[in-house]
Amino acid sequence: MYPDLNLFIAGEWRKTGSDMPVINPATEEELGRLPRASQSDLDDALSAAVQGFELWKHVSPRDRATTILRAAALMRERREEIATSITLEHGKPLKQARLEVTRGAEFLEWDAGEAMRTYGRIIPAARGHKFAVHHQPVGVVAAFSPWNFPMSQPARKIAGALASGCSVILKAAEETPAGALHIARAFQDAGLPPGVLNIVFGNPTEISGYVIPKDPVRLVAFTGSTSVGRHLTMLAAQHDTRVLMELGGHAPVIVCEDTDVRSAAVSGAIRKMRNTGQVCTSPTRFFTHESVFDAYAAAFVERAKGTVVGNGMDAGVEMGPTANDRRVPVLTDLVEDAVAKGATLGTGGRRPAGKGYFFQPTVLLNVPENARIMTAEPFGPVAVINPVTSLDHAIERANSVPYGLAGYAFTNRADYIDRLVDELEVGNLSINTLEASMPETPFGGVKSSGYGREGGTEGLDNYMTVKNVWHAVAIA
Ligand code: NAD
Repeated sequence: MYPDLNLFIAGEWRKTGSDMPVINPATEEELGRLPRASQSDLDDALSAAVQGFELWKHVSPRDRATTILRAAALMRERREEIATSITLEHGKPLKQARLEVTRGAEFLEWDAGEAMRTYGRIIPAARGHKFAVHHQPVGVVAAFSPWNFPMSQPARKIAGALASGCSVILKAAEETPAGALHIARAFQDAGLPPGVLNIVFGNPTEISGYVIPKDPVRLVAFTGSTSVGRHLTMLAAQHDTRVLMELGGHAPVIVCEDTDVRSAAVSGAIRKMRNTGQVCTSPTRFFTHESVFDAYAAAFVERAKGTVVGNGMDAGVEMGPTANDRRVPVLTDLVEDAVAKGATLGTGGRRPAGKGYFFQPTVLLNVPENARIMTAEPFGPVAVINPVTSLDHAIERANSVPYGLAGYAFTNRADYIDRLVDELEVGNLSINTLEASMPETPFGGVKSSGYGREGGTEGLDNYMTVKNVWHAVAIA
């Protein structure tokens, strides 16, 4: 059920002398041993990526798209197998893991199409002169993907890089390696030339510290916490290397007085618990108009309490454990701090007894602004619901954190929506839905949530350079 774990370098699967355990977070049992890349493995991956780039950048966009689409089709065919390994290593319910596999394939399919639309342009010039703008692949990409979406996160980075004609060295998350390895297998079976895609694991700090400064690396693409993103950005800057950063979020949800309160609350509670709250766009700070606060909070708490928590492999489970043993103490501290400062615990707040890194679906009400959870991203199944007196108050509170990834609002008032579009400091705003993005829409943050966009027609910009060509027909 769970694949053999290897590195993937120069089109070959590789084991190494040193390895580390991969743990099932629902049972705390070992699933397998993951090889750690040595410096010589990383050197091999770098050389392979250089050779891969030299070859792949000359492959026509249509042929690149064909290979990517073939890999996406294989991933769809293997959905059950891939989803099962994701649930085993990450803990999320199998139903959510299946959706993740589909989403990963969709990322590849969208970027495959975009590969054929990386148009340049002709700029009008004086007679005898031509100005032409060309988009060209940036080169070798060092990519780092996190553990919250073991398959769709690596798929997104691989899609952008390969569609643009770049080669990649991806360090996927050590806790959840199978998703990325399934992608590599699909690309190998789809006929991707060796070296275009390389996957390594090991000590994250050592790998990024070794690979990013190397000359062939032209772009660092990272998804993860703001603090690590900042560190990698500084490292890249020392070598004049570009970065694409998708970092943390602390999404506000503004619930206005005109909304259908019960439906908004139920959808909030369901969405908050999705992926056990381990989503950078997870709705977390619910600012609810004071006139509907009591009804909203009651319906939200009732639905959160009803969440079916358990092993993601079991039918009917809505929320699995957190993905690793680091989250539970962090979440416990944040809840205790909020309650000590005066918040009301609506439900949850603890790790249940027994095996697994579980944390109860948790709702905090009337949380004081000085509680740490109001500024620190919980990245877990914890919601904060606070009353606000007006839209001004809600927008001021929503914008009060350094993050600006996703923001949500529930209202049908055109004047409110107009103000939210203008004033909410986020990269993605959703009205009357808690979905944040699709493959065809650009995704990314403002402020400390990062820079650059993945998806949409903007997605390949990060992976390409712009070359302006001035051609004088005769020697001037
Ligand atoms: P973390 O910041 O240590 O790790 C996050 C990811 O970054 C992991 O996959 C890790 O392998 C990688 N990483 C860490 N240090 C690195 C380095 N020096 N070089 C390259 N990669 C490195 O924290 P964590 O405990 O794993 O997760 C906690 C926080 O990370 C969460 O609170 C959340 O804010 C953030 N996070 C965000 C996302 C996202 O989708 N934006 C995903 C996962 C984690």
